[in-house]
Amino acid sequence: MQIWSGWNRRLQPVEIRAAETLTDERRPEGVASFYSGGVDSSYTVLKHIGDPRLATPSHLILVHGFDYDRRNLALRELVRDRIAKVAAGFGVGLVEAETNLRELTDPFVFWGTLQYAPLQLGIGLAMSGEFWRIITSSGISYPMLIPFGGHPGVDPLWSTEATEIVHEGAEASRVEKVAWQVARSDVALSGLRVCYMNPGGAYNCGRCVKCQRTLAALQLAGALDRCPTFDGALPDPELIAAADLVDDQMRDQVREFIATLKADGRYPELETAFEASLSRRSRRARLHEPLSALRVLRNRHAPSLRL
Ligand SMILES: [Zn+2]
Repeated sequence: MQIWSGWNRRLQPVEIRAAETLTDERRPEGVASFYSGGVDSSYTVLKHIGDPRLATPSHLILVHGFDYDRRNLALRELVRDRIAKVAAGFGVGLVEAETNLRELTDPFVFWGTLQYAPLQLGIGLAMSGEFWRIITSSGISYPMLIPFGGHPGVDPLWSTEATEIVHEGAEASRVEKVAWQVARSDVALSGLRVCYMNPGGAYNCGRCVKCQRTLAALQLAGALDRCPTFDGALPDPELIAAADLVDDQMRDQVREFIATLKADGRYPELETAFEASLSRRSRRARLHEPLSALRVLRNRHAPSLRL
């Protein structure tokens, strides 16, 4: 609570009182990893399957209602079907969960910062009788860490006596995750799902920021023609150049693409496109400029006032 309140001053630690405390004496045997089909969770599972020093997941947990609209039944069935085949390809079980919490809380709380980890790990703890370790995947690498719902400094604090919560994958950037693990696995590529727009119920739209960056990463890794879930879409320099970089994290990711493309040298048109997106001011920044100017003016003329 102290960390969260440090991230957001509107949040205050609360006192927790309990009439009695109980020790969880269960000793579950399974290991689960949350799995959406995306780059982060695919990387985590492949890393654990391929390293005998790490506990291999016995199950994947797929949550309906997190990153796509669970009420779209056709898309839900498509996601379920493909992820079930990926789980079978990995040789592990699949556990499905469903939540409508996001539909209730989205109007009030920002998903990425405040909702994501508590909802996900709360679902994990509801299954803690089955799993002694539950793995959640990092969406942000260590050099780019920002206060965010899924964070290596906070996620393990959800652990109990019976179930250890592990935050994995922050050692690798998105481009590295694709190159090091995802591009090497036809099983992971067969279900790769990164889109957050899903227009017309598309599994991957092939046009949004996440789809385009994943396509660029797959092309760099030489795996584009082995990934069936983008229906033949290609990295499009025009779409990449037009991307709206709304925060520092997105800008850092673009800088990483530029450095990787520059070192690779095979796709100068993509390098130019990413540089163009970086040179543009984001729409959000342009929208805030008039307010910032107003703050400067007002503070200059009435220093005691703060907008
Ligand atoms: Zn998309």
